[in-house]
Amino acid sequence: MSEITVANLTKAFGPHKAVDGVSFTVSSGEFVVLLGPSGCGKSTTLRLIAGLEPPSAGSISIHGHDVTRLGPSQRQISMVFQSYAVFPHLDVARNITFGLEVRGVSKAERQQRLARVADIVGLTPYLARKPGQLSGGQRQRVALARAIISERPVCLMDEPLSNLDAKLRHEMRVEIRELQQRLGMTMLYVTHDQIEAMTMADRVILMKDGRIEQDGTPADLYERPRTMFAARFVGLPPMNFIPAPDESGTVGIRAEDLKLTSGAGRLSGSVAGIEYLGADTLVSVEWQGLSLIARVAGASLLKRGETVGLSWDDAAEHHFDIREQRRPVARQFEHV
Ligand code: ATP
Repeated sequence: MSEITVANLTKAFGPHKAVDGVSFTVSSGEFVVLLGPSGCGKSTTLRLIAGLEPPSAGSISIHGHDVTRLGPSQRQISMVFQSYAVFPHLDVARNITFGLEVRGVSKAERQQRLARVADIVGLTPYLARKPGQLSGGQRQRVALARAIISERPVCLMDEPLSNLDAKLRHEMRVEIRELQQRLGMTMLYVTHDQIEAMTMADRVILMKDGRIEQDGTPADLYERPRTMFAARFVGLPPMNFIPAPDESGTVGIRAEDLKLTSGAGRLSGSVAGIEYLGADTLVSVEWQGLSLIARVAGASLLKRGETVGLSWDDAAEHHFDIREQRRPVARQFEHV
């Protein structure tokens, strides 16, 4: 069953449409990420679903009920935002249970739920502390605990990890995903970070200029990007693009599919840069004014300026037409 249904959702600020006719569903227990560059409308979409902004057009249903005109508290959802305010003067325990207190849940039940949730997010030893005595990640977990303790099956999160360092982000990614699965929560999660999207999501909705560019699994987006925008946005380094020999569009090849050859390959160019990453190395090769990046295992003995050949399998080619849309049928890339 779909827990969230958004149909033709539109939000205009003056003449500018921040969200422009967006439609999608999120099923029960599914983790869906709204992904896209800054300004693409993903936060506005989430705020509309949360009820923090009224839409200009379109409808929103949650648990099968039309909530388009209801306030946030009537939507039966929990939210975690990047700048989620924890109350500095309340200890961790009260910060977590505050919402239940407001809703008139008895003290005995609050304590029981607190013990369980604090254990889930690993905050049990910190319940008596004030937020100022916590690390950023622990504070973030307070916000998360608040969302979980509400026991609302639908949770909205907007860039909840953006203030954390790389190690903590990684830990929290794993923790949030694990929690979501264990509790069977329906999650809609906004981020501009493709790694968060790829590692956490069951489904990714990629947005551009207020519209949906592609809606699919992480593997769909990586292996079958529908547009050159999607091919550039998902994957690090971004996909390499070469003009199709007959100028009918563009051929895309992932860095791991480009092979360096000592003899003449399909193309030959000169090594312009070498980035050693430990497990592998990114070698950029200049060819006809373009920089093509190949990922090779381990270290590379190549030197800048050296001439190398580049080769790839036909099956690794992604074909896009002049409108930058994926071509359903691949055209052969001839030797050039
Ligand atoms: P970011 O990752 O930077 O938060 P985003 O994809 O979440 O970006 P939104 O915050 O949804 O983008 O904004 C989408 C567009 O709408 C932007 O161009 C933004 O400037 C505009 N916008 C958002 N809120 C308002 C507002 N209250 N008034 C006017 N314009 C707004």
